[in-house]
Amino acid sequence: MTVTKSGMSEDVADKINSLAKRRGFVFPSSEIYGGAGATWDYGPLGVELKNNVKRAWWRAMVQLRDDIVGIDAAILMHPRVWEASGHVENFIDPLVECGNCRKRFRIDELSDGDALMDQWRDGRADLSTVACPNCGQKKLGPPRRFNLMFKTFVGPVEDTASVAWLRPETAQGIFVNFENVQQSTRRKLPFGIAQVGKSFRNEITPGNFIFRSREFEQMEMQYFCRPADAPRLFDEWLAARRRWYDDLGIDDDLLRFREHAENERAHYAAKAVDIQFRFPFGWQEMEGIHNRTDYDLRRHMEFSGKDLRYFDEATNERFIPYVVETAVGADRATYALLCAAYDEEPDKEGIRVVLRLHKDLAPYKVAVLPLSKNERLTPLAREVYALVRPHFLSTYDETQAIGRRYRRQDEIGTPLCVTIDFPSLDDHAVTIRERDSMAQVRVPIADLVPALREKLGA
Ligand SMILES: [Zn+2]
Repeated sequence: MTVTKSGMSEDVADKINSLAKRRGFVFPSSEIYGGAGATWDYGPLGVELKNNVKRAWWRAMVQLRDDIVGIDAAILMHPRVWEASGHVENFIDPLVECGNCRKRFRIDELSDGDALMDQWRDGRADLSTVACPNCGQKKLGPPRRFNLMFKTFVGPVEDTASVAWLRPETAQGIFVNFENVQQSTRRKLPFGIAQVGKSFRNEITPGNFIFRSREFEQMEMQYFCRPADAPRLFDEWLAARRRWYDDLGIDDDLLRFREHAENERAHYAAKAVDIQFRFPFGWQEMEGIHNRTDYDLRRHMEFSGKDLRYFDEATNERFIPYVVETAVGADRATYALLCAAYDEEPDKEGIRVVLRLHKDLAPYKVAVLPLSKNERLTPLAREVYALVRPHFLSTYDETQAIGRRYRRQDEIGTPLCVTIDFPSLDDHAVTIRERDSMAQVRVPIADLVPALREKLGA
C-alpha cells in the first residue's frame, strides 16, 4: 500500500483529534461535566476501529498460531499478586511539589528531566537549582515516591485486609494462570498465553490524546520458553511484531526500535526494546518487547508457596521457564494507525482528507449511496444496502451532493462506495468507487457481493 504522507506535526495531531471528535471516533469522557481529565470514550466509529485493531492482533497472535492460546483474566486479583510482581514496591514515579505554587510534577517533566531521572535512579537528584515549570521559582521539594497503582477496597470495610488494586498490567493474570493453562491444554514449551484487557495506572501527567491515559487497554502475550532459548525468541518476536505493523500498512519510516538502557528498564526486565512510532508529537513507545526471565514465576512461587516449575519429559528436568513478552497498548496502536492513515491531497474542491486505513481496520467496509435523494432511486438503493449489509459492515447515506458524501466516506476510511444512479433502474448495475484511487467500475447488482468481497480480500 502506498501512502503519501502529509508532514507529521502538532498541526496534524490537532486535525486528527478534531476529526476523531467530529466523526465519532473518540470523545472526551464525561464531556457535559467538563471532561474527566485525560479519559476518553470511543464513539460509534472508534469502537469499530479499536475492535478491528484488537481482532487483527488476536488473529495474528492466537488464531493463526498453534503455539499460543488466549485467556481473559479478572481485573481484580489477590493483593499478594502485586507484592509478588514487585509493583507495590517498584511501580513508582518520582514526584516533586513546588513550595511556592504547590503544583506537582514528575521529575522527567522538569528542564533537563532525563538527566534528573538518571540522577534520581542513582539516588542523587539535586533539585535546588531547578526552576518550577509553572511559577519559575527554585523551591521544588525533595522527590517523593508515588505508586502508580489505583487502590480500592473489596467489601464494605476500608482496611488493609480488604485492599485491592486495579491491575496496572494484564501480564500477572497470565502468570498466575500459567499452571492452569499449561495443564488444561497439555502445552509443551515453548508456548504463549495472550490476553486483551483493561489496565489502570494513576499517571501524574497523562496526555497527548489517547496516547497516555489512566485507563487503557493492553494486548499482551507472554511466551514461556527454556531459559537458553529466550535471547533467540526475543529477536524473533521483535521481528514478528514489527511485521504486524507493516502488514497493517504503517510505513517503515514511521517505525523504529529503541533499546532501553540498563537503568531505565522495568524491575522485571533483563532486556527491553520498544517499537516506537513517530507520532505527531515525536517518537514514542507503542509496544515493548521484554525478556522477563523467570522473575515473575519465581516470585509467584515464593509468595504463593506453589511449585510452578515446568517438567520436561524429554530431559527429566524441572525448571522455571523464562518469559519473552510482547506488550502493546490497544489505544496507542489505534492512535498510531489513525496517524499513519491520515492523508490530505489537493483536489478540485480544495483538500481531500483521506484515512487510508487498511481495509481490515476500516470501521465501515462499504457505503451505499444513491446518486441523489430521489423517490425512484431510494427503493433500489435500500435493496442494495440490504443485499450488502449481512456480508460487510456497511452504512447508508443519501443526504447532500454525491461528491460531499464521497468525501465524508474518505474522511472515515471507508474503502468502497457503491453508487446507485438512474441507469441502475434499467441495467441493474451499480458503480463501485475505491477510496484510495477513486477509480470506478460498474458491476451488475447480481455480482456485487462477490465483486466487493474480491476488492476487500475478504
Ligand atoms: Zn511553582
